[in-house]
Amino acid sequence: MSSDAEWLRPASSGLLAERFLIAPRHGPGVCRCCLNLTDGDGLCWACRHGEQRLAVAVPISYSVGGEGLHRLIVAYKREADSSVPHALTDLAALCERFLALHEPCIASAAGLSDGFDRITTVPSADPLRDLQHPLRRIVGERSEITRGRYERLLVRSESVAIPRVYDPARYTPTRALTGESVLLVDDMWTSGASAQSAAGALLAAGASSVAAVVLARHLNRSWHNNDARLRDLEQLAFSYESCVLCARTGARIEPGHWLQSQTLA
Ligand SMILES: [Zn+2]
Ligand SMILES: [Zn+2]
Repeated sequence: MSSDAEWLRPASSGLLAERFLIAPRHGPGVCRCCLNLTDGDGLCWACRHGEQRLAVAVPISYSVGGEGLHRLIVAYKREADSSVPHALTDLAALCERFLALHEPCIASAAGLSDGFDRITTVPSADPLRDLQHPLRRIVGERSEITRGRYERLLVRSESVAIPRVYDPARYTPTRALTGESVLLVDDMWTSGASAQSAAGALLAAGASSVAAVVLARHLNRSWHNNDARLRDLEQLAFSYESCVLCARTGARIEPGHWLQSQTLA
């Protein structure tokens, strides 16, 4: 039997196999903020009861508890997990490929004519871990299109974080911002409280606009009729060519000069 790593990505492309990813799509019964699967239209319970500080949130894929992408994200946080030796590399390739194609879609949805001025990550709940967090290495070091604009703009504060509760005081800005736009990158969205709190802290520090891209919008297969809905989504093959934003219009926002110069730098 082949190892997880061989199954996850075809050797030729270096990218996670599309069959491993589940593309979120806007529509009826989908939260218009976080793309959670819901009973009704509009916002899911968590988004309705939380605060909305992000201009837009874009999950690349759904992840399902205990299944492929979820296991990969758990493994990359452990790093030394020999069952998934390429977890960091695989997620770095996913992030870079997606942003190379779709950062213009996210920027446009956030009302920007160019790309984001700064790119940062949501700090880890554990301040000590945050210094070595693998997502910082992906966005700040590995990815050619993000590392030039990466800056550690937030650190975890002393404030005690209540899980799933919006609280920008849980993060302290590292400096004042002067109207810069910021793209937040996070690995997993569950309630959205971390990303929305980080956005609130960045806006209070002077950011003009904050959007988020998350590797995975987390779902539980056993909740309500998620299983049937996930099976339907799995039939629609994931494609790197579209994101939740451009899938709506059918046309990707073409990278402008700003992105080409980032890529070639
Ligand atoms: Zn939601
Ligand atoms: Zn797109």
